[in-house]
Amino acid sequence: MSIDFKNFSGVGMTSDSSREKLIKILKNEGIKNKKVLESIRLIPRHIFVDEAISSKAYDNTALPIGKSQTISHPFIVAKMTEIIMDYNPKRILEIGTGSGYQAAVLSLLVDKVYSVERIEYLHMKSKNIFRKMGIKNIYLKHSDGNDGWSQKSPFDAIIVTAGANKIPSALIDQLSNNGGILILPVKSNGKQYLKSIIKTNNKYKEKVHGIVNFVPLLNGVAL
Ligand code: SAH
Repeated sequence: MSIDFKNFSGVGMTSDSSREKLIKILKNEGIKNKKVLESIRLIPRHIFVDEAISSKAYDNTALPIGKSQTISHPFIVAKMTEIIMDYNPKRILEIGTGSGYQAAVLSLLVDKVYSVERIEYLHMKSKNIFRKMGIKNIYLKHSDGNDGWSQKSPFDAIIVTAGANKIPSALIDQLSNNGGILILPVKSNGKQYLKSIIKTNNKYKEKVHGIVNFVPLLNGVAL
């Protein structure tokens, strides 16, 4: 796994030791997949947050990215990525591009990452970052992720990085019928549960991975 970030000014500004510290924390918290850890080590998280808070970029916390949205906690990025990587996905759909960080981590692990964001400002910002970084296997769309991205379906994996009230049926439809995995936070009894659904021959296997705290999955698009 390698990536050429040399054309991107700002890469390397944040110390390697804080990145290594983050990897240690993730290992201590139970992340085992070496490729996932390596991808998190390689992707410069400070580029996806505002410069004013970039010193916090390698802390294991969620951080603001503007428009009342957050870049997810590194542990949850690692955890969701680890869960889907067990199914060897080649083509992934992400709902909620946000800063672009989760998509960037996935881009080193799979062939193609499709990612949908409802807020145009965030969509454009992440598009710019990927262009500057020279990442070429992430495809972005500004639209309502509740509809998925049917033209590009089926997907081997779908990862939703915002909390849904109920599972959007379009996402189930667009999942590969051959062991495709959907992972998403879903509300139940006032709490958000991280759920995975495996689809095989139109049969579904569901699993709950724990309680999480994502910003809500909303409807429609915004500026
Ligand atoms: N994966 C992101 C996390 C972003 S937070 C990252 O790595 O930074 C969740 C994102 O989901 C927000 O940017 C929010 O605008 C977006 N979102 C919420 N509802 C959505 C919807 N219906 N369609 C697409 N994106 C949505």
